[in-house]
Amino acid sequence: MPDPITRREFLQVTAAAGALASTGLTWTGSPAADGWFDRPMRWVQLTLVENDPGAFDPDFWLDYFRRLHADAATLSAGGIVAYYPTAVPLHHRSAWLKESDPFGTLVKGCRALNMNVVARVDPHAVRDDVKAAHPDWISVAADGRPRRHWANPDLWVTCALGPYNFDFMDRVNREIVAMYGVDGVFANRWAPQGGDCYCVHCQDNFRRATGRELPRTPDRRDPAHRSFVDWRIARLTELWKHWDASIRAVRAEARFIPNGPPDMKTAAELADIQFADFQARRGLTPPWANGRRAKEFRAVMGRKPVAGIFSVGLEEPYRWKDSVQSEPEIQLWVADATANGMRPWVTKFSGVIYDRRWLPIVERIYDWHYRHERYLRNERSLARVALLHSEQTEAFHAGMAEGDRAADHVLGMYQALVEARVPFDLVHEALLTPERLDPYKVLVLADAAALSDAQCEAIRAYVRRGGSLVATFASSLFDESGVRRGDFGLADVFGVSLAGRGTIVDGPMHNSYLNLETDPATGRRHPILAGLEGTPRIINGVFRLDVRSAQPAPSPLTLIPQYPDLPMEDVYPRVAHTDTPAVYLSDRGRGRVVYFPWDIDRTFWDVLATDHLLLLKNAVAWAANEPPVVEVDGPGVLDVTVWRQRASTTIHLVNLTNPMMMKGPLREAIPVGPLMVRMRLPEGRRPSKVTLLTAGTRATPTIEGNVMSVRVPSVAVHEVLALDD
Ligand SMILES: [Zn+2]
Repeated sequence: MPDPITRREFLQVTAAAGALASTGLTWTGSPAADGWFDRPMRWVQLTLVENDPGAFDPDFWLDYFRRLHADAATLSAGGIVAYYPTAVPLHHRSAWLKESDPFGTLVKGCRALNMNVVARVDPHAVRDDVKAAHPDWISVAADGRPRRHWANPDLWVTCALGPYNFDFMDRVNREIVAMYGVDGVFANRWAPQGGDCYCVHCQDNFRRATGRELPRTPDRRDPAHRSFVDWRIARLTELWKHWDASIRAVRAEARFIPNGPPDMKTAAELADIQFADFQARRGLTPPWANGRRAKEFRAVMGRKPVAGIFSVGLEEPYRWKDSVQSEPEIQLWVADATANGMRPWVTKFSGVIYDRRWLPIVERIYDWHYRHERYLRNERSLARVALLHSEQTEAFHAGMAEGDRAADHVLGMYQALVEARVPFDLVHEALLTPERLDPYKVLVLADAAALSDAQCEAIRAYVRRGGSLVATFASSLFDESGVRRGDFGLADVFGVSLAGRGTIVDGPMHNSYLNLETDPATGRRHPILAGLEGTPRIINGVFRLDVRSAQPAPSPLTLIPQYPDLPMEDVYPRVAHTDTPAVYLSDRGRGRVVYFPWDIDRTFWDVLATDHLLLLKNAVAWAANEPPVVEVDGPGVLDVTVWRQRASTTIHLVNLTNPMMMKGPLREAIPVGPLMVRMRLPEGRRPSKVTLLTAGTRATPTIEGNVMSVRVPSVAVHEVLALDD
């Protein structure tokens, strides 16, 4: 257990707080009952570098925050470097600090702007003096040696799960909150850094908690690995609660806010506010990636605020921290987060700026956000489709075969839903309650392989209540630990069971196809094949599971097994037709179930074939069995979301159309339009006014029955249709 704060430190802390109060540095009160968390709509972060004190101009930054209409700031306070006159022994003051207090100066300035302030600490590294005084505070690598910092060899990486964080950083946090009355402490890199730690504390704690030795390999199938993942989450959760309790003891409204929760379920349980640290693209990143992060947080946070941290620079592995991206790139990254329910948070390293081109870009983004703030305070999403976010699958499912990554199934499904312009949310596996699930008509399981019995039961009950399901591949074939079941946990819901006694997965298949069947009863094709009228067959995926139906029925799609793809003389089907279904469809009263026994979503991510997109789109539409809440006609790739505010409804259109959309820094925005947007209105409801927020124009909607149509002339990056009640 950490030491309680010593009397000497307590006196130092309270004396410092008193001194600051007498100089006028007192904090304005925050509403205590509900907390301050939901107030800030726009965040800024200034991360100082050690030689900033005396060199950077706090007034410049405060003036910039004012021009941004920023409501809250996160400011460098302590950890690796203290930017205030700390009294905690071994807490390294900036070598440039002298008698100054740049953190205090900025806090005071932000208070004067009526901003909330969160102190940023970074506990992940220390200097030689700390190592000499407390060698056991340093992270230890698997070879038993203390871990030097990978980027700065003058520093040592700290053990995140031992006394350095539990004791030393706890004192630092308390000192900062006591001296400055900040609204919270945000810890960057607070979880283990640079690799797993094998220090004496971690060894002892793990042994005491699990009876095992720390695993030395990251093999997901190793039971020790599973214990390790659980233990790490538990230990970080304990650290979160410990820091948070200390901070609240000093100031009840303040919170500890981790940069990255131990897992999303813990965020749901502990957090009043969360920040998603996904600053920019890296490598091949789809342009909806930041919106996806927003959906992940929304799934667990519900209405609680989530801010999306974005950088103005490149976030590539070469780490140019002082770089600046193009305006369309920054704009699109923020727009997709905003459209998906996150609030903007710009972060900048270094108080001294070299390249100033980003300043007016962020100002334009924030100004738009400020002017339209009331349409951005979302109460709830109106999406009718939800995609399951399974952290268990990410952590414990190794795939069905070499080359099968569960993550790629999710990426493919996400891309397909975006391309199909389906407004959708994510739901989290730990929160499959009727309250969370029932607003949706369709739940999608994109190879959600690792599900517990209770989670399967929650999904089964959802279908029983009239929900529909679209599931692919190994969904529910494993338990929550990644251990394979004898059959799908949802076999009864899918209407299929595993067939094979030996190999259950076929693939990677080359040159396999699917026949498009005609229903013998009606002589017509099933609606799931709409748009594929011109062909008798389409390409198959790459992996398929050998399954059997309890009650065999004709399927609209059947397997054509792979046949040689070389030499060309040999490329003809050996078996032209089978009755092996490639999709299983069932009607369950009000709900419908679609199960694909093959990797349609993973192959789509891999190959992006349009026929697979059509099938996925049709599958979701058939399962929904209701008109979509919003439809958008016209060219382009758009992320479409729909939200309710207190007295309005908004439809966000984020234009992802760009020749560089899957790679990176955009050169320019490519406007799309005109677009026709149709929305189903609740019975008897007519908007009093429809505005295109970015265009700044009133729209004249056409209303037929309960369907409202609005023409949007053009969307460059982001347009919002705001429908006032
Ligand atoms: Zn350790």
